[in-house]
Amino acid sequence: MSGPVPIVDAAHPFARDSDELNPPDIIMRSADRVDFFAHKQMLAFSSNCFANMFAFPAPTVDDANPTRAGLTVVVVPEPAVALRVLLLMSYPRFSATYIVDSFDGVAEAYAAAKKYDIPAAITHIPKLLLEPVLLAREPYRVFAIAHILQLEDIAKAAAAETLKHPILGPAAHVPEYALISAHQLWQLHAFRREVADVLKGIVELFVRPCLAENLVIYDDAFTPERAHLTLVWWSPMGPRGKHAVGCGASLLAVPEDFPEVLVVPAPWFSEHIDRVMQRVSSLYTPFETNVDHVAEFLGQITPEIITATSKCPLCTAKAATDLKELADGFRVVAKGSIEHVLQKTTFITL
Ligand SMILES: [Zn+2]
Repeated sequence: MSGPVPIVDAAHPFARDSDELNPPDIIMRSADRVDFFAHKQMLAFSSNCFANMFAFPAPTVDDANPTRAGLTVVVVPEPAVALRVLLLMSYPRFSATYIVDSFDGVAEAYAAAKKYDIPAAITHIPKLLLEPVLLAREPYRVFAIAHILQLEDIAKAAAAETLKHPILGPAAHVPEYALISAHQLWQLHAFRREVADVLKGIVELFVRPCLAENLVIYDDAFTPERAHLTLVWWSPMGPRGKHAVGCGASLLAVPEDFPEVLVVPAPWFSEHIDRVMQRVSSLYTPFETNVDHVAEFLGQITPEIITATSKCPLCTAKAATDLKELADGFRVVAKGSIEHVLQKTTFITL
């Protein structure tokens, strides 16, 4: 037969002898029987609820709190992992000792902070979730925690951060997935899929046949989306565009009765975009969602490009700088488009 779960002491900074200069005067016992050695004054300062509790003398009759080593024990229903976060946030954070450096217990701590009326923790936990290093490391966890906490801005920031990760999702277990619904997780996948389609659309735009007149009047309608039409692969084929024979933009062969004159970019550029499309798509993802990866591939002057442009002095001179310009332009347009998708998406529904 197994007896009651044994009581264990919390780790530093809430161990029994963590602070020899200021010995603890209260024990906070978690639901899973971990004793945290703390200081009434700190808890009373951070929590209106604890301030009220400590304002009354401890009961001395049958219903008295348990004591241990002469200290009153306050038993709380939170697990140790959450109580630790709650206590860390009740102590001054200018000391590295009291920094919360993991998301373990954060969701429960937020609920407890509301229950015990700990304003510092209520304002600090959302900031912790957006802390760049932690967010970059575990965006899926932050997304799940944001759902539990019902914080839309944080869900959005986390969803945006997941775009930098492979679409198959987190390699490590996300404990908070147990607490959110399949629908909530599906929303994240739907968002990622939409972003993938948007980014794919932007790259496809770079090789879409263009109206000849647009190449001439781009100065009048200069937008980030059309800026690429100024780049070297869109300047006309032949002597007028100063390309070598067979290089440069050319007229698209269309039926004779087709009303518009369409132009396609230099062949080497279309082939470059084909290769980029192959690199950033796979069986598992319709398109890469990491803007920087796509931009990197777009801006790369590859051996294939060097070979294909070797006979054209104009492209040899300009391809590298113009591809870099294309990549930079892609970053701007892509980030704006992702921002737009985020703005019209609502993750948290009550
Ligand atoms: Zn050329």
